[in-house]
Amino acid sequence: MIETIEIDKAFNVAAVRKHFPALQREVKGKPLVYFDNAATTQKPQAVIDALVNYYSHYNANIHRGIHTLAEEATAAFEATRDTVQQFINAASREQIIFTGGATEGINLVAQTWGRQNIKAGDEIIISSMEHHSNIVPWYMLAQEKGAVLKIIPINEDGELMMDEFHKLLSEKTKLVSIVHVSNVLGTINPVKNIIAGAHSVGAVTLVDGAQSTVHLDIDVQDLDCDFFVFSSHKIYGPTGVGVLYGKKELLESMPPYQGGGEMIKDVYFDAITYNDLPYKFEAGTPNIADTVALKAALDFTKWIGKQKIREHENELLCYATEQLMQIEGLKIIGNAKNKVSVISFVVEKVHPQDLGILLDNRGIAVRTGHHCAQPLMECYKIPGTARASFAMYNTKEEIDSLITGLQKVIKMLL
Ligand code: PMP
Repeated sequence: MIETIEIDKAFNVAAVRKHFPALQREVKGKPLVYFDNAATTQKPQAVIDALVNYYSHYNANIHRGIHTLAEEATAAFEATRDTVQQFINAASREQIIFTGGATEGINLVAQTWGRQNIKAGDEIIISSMEHHSNIVPWYMLAQEKGAVLKIIPINEDGELMMDEFHKLLSEKTKLVSIVHVSNVLGTINPVKNIIAGAHSVGAVTLVDGAQSTVHLDIDVQDLDCDFFVFSSHKIYGPTGVGVLYGKKELLESMPPYQGGGEMIKDVYFDAITYNDLPYKFEAGTPNIADTVALKAALDFTKWIGKQKIREHENELLCYATEQLMQIEGLKIIGNAKNKVSVISFVVEKVHPQDLGILLDNRGIAVRTGHHCAQPLMECYKIPGTARASFAMYNTKEEIDSLITGLQKVIKMLL
């Protein structure tokens, strides 16, 4: 356990950084500058401790045991459900389903609600800026059922064209599945308006919160979304666990996703009754340790203060945007008025991958490529971008290193 470090009322990034052991390391002999937070965030000591503590002291299978370890493990696992419920303001804990991540949450809805409700000729609306996770499951469902995918276009700044969205809506629209925050552009989409529009034609809505949950306050009741998914690892928690939230009446009407232990009440060879929510969707032994540690991640984020984190990240976003715009030949992809601290960019005559490799030589981790958003790359007619994404622990000095690094690297490459 590291000692508790007091966080100033005015956000103290140096104190925050001390909670993240990975930030203390060097890469290629240089201090690590970690700007790949949209792919996954680093983990605070509290999360690492929660994992070690679980395996060291109360590792046991949950729900079925009556011995002390099983009871402790069950209590810790279920405590995470309560914390998630509060974190996204769900009306009840039964509406929180643990999954392997955002991807699995979307697939669960496609394979259960989707297969039950989508038929030939129905329309599913997604957007041009979706991650492959929110394209492929709907493409597969549409192929199977003879349904049609409709795509909301974006403007040059990387904002959804809302008038076009409204034109796409009709009585054929059965589902609108939309990313809350783009992992490439950083755009914050007006999901509340989109949900209201979808509901006006009787469509069901899913919000992909993989990138939003770490930056924004999430209130699923206020959004009025039917489904919401996110991944623990993008909000300072472990990999391998995620959350699907759903409206109760929808979750109750859906068939189970996978069959196995825990998701049943009674099993006979000729008749099976399924368990109540949320267990109906949680077949088999779940990822207990990582789910337990997700609570530590959410508690940590709350303790630091989401508002303070947001303000700090906004400052980094503005500072980095200004600095990057000074670099000759560099173009930022995604200039939405409402965006989070994710900046994608391209540099004239330079391949993003070369930028990534040479920046890594300077200890700077950025992501390059299509970011699992090939249709979006197609919109901009580019093969990929370099992307710097900032978290609570990043600093202006690190942005200065990126800018200096980019200037040097570009000079080398041209
Ligand atoms: N949606 C978006 C917008 C994402 O950025 C990601 C992860 N890059 C996902 C979905 C999928 O998340 P995961 O891989 O954790 O399931």
